[in-house]
Amino acid sequence: METLKQLQQLFKRFPGIGERQAMRFAYFLATADENYTRDLIEQITHLRKNVRRCARCFALSENIVDGKCPVCNDKTRDKSMLLVVEKDADRDRFIQSRTYSGTYFVLGGLAPAIEKDASTHIRLLELSRLVSAESESTLKEIILALSATPDGERTEALVTLQLQKSETTIPVSILGKGLSTGTEIEYSDADTLGNALRTRTKNE
Ligand SMILES: [Zn+2]
Repeated sequence: METLKQLQQLFKRFPGIGERQAMRFAYFLATADENYTRDLIEQITHLRKNVRRCARCFALSENIVDGKCPVCNDKTRDKSMLLVVEKDADRDRFIQSRTYSGTYFVLGGLAPAIEKDASTHIRLLELSRLVSAESESTLKEIILALSATPDGERTEALVTLQLQKSETTIPVSILGKGLSTGTEIEYSDADTLGNALRTRTKNE
């Protein structure tokens, strides 16, 4: 296959990128400034070498110390609260919003509402393990902060079921008003997230 086509196939795998956009990227790179393409290659190499997943919350970070990310290692963070999010970008959104002082868990996706065995897509077992490991000592509340979409709701139900199976007695809350139907965490502003956190309700 010719190089442009091969690049197109690679770009097509980016989230939200279709065939035509992927081809535009390939053409762009073919004619881009040499310094730009060198930087791009260097940064991708650097990314692959230095960015790792935290062993506790599974967030990506360049600063993993003793297996953990800066948030999990931060002694000033409130370890009694665990906010469960879909992806790294959602966690970033909460961190930027400064509305939450606890720690996080990154599920790694949502369970697609149309698929039968959706649980294989997300870190349900890893979440159970973390909750069991910390429920005796520090953990007092789990907050599910998933997008208000059909996939988000399905995931919420799966996580709740998994936590019930692991027989934890830690209360589970869900985000309250402010997150209207169809809202994705990644695109929510600080006020909306703060309001949704403050009005969280116990998940029955
Ligand atoms: Zn972490």
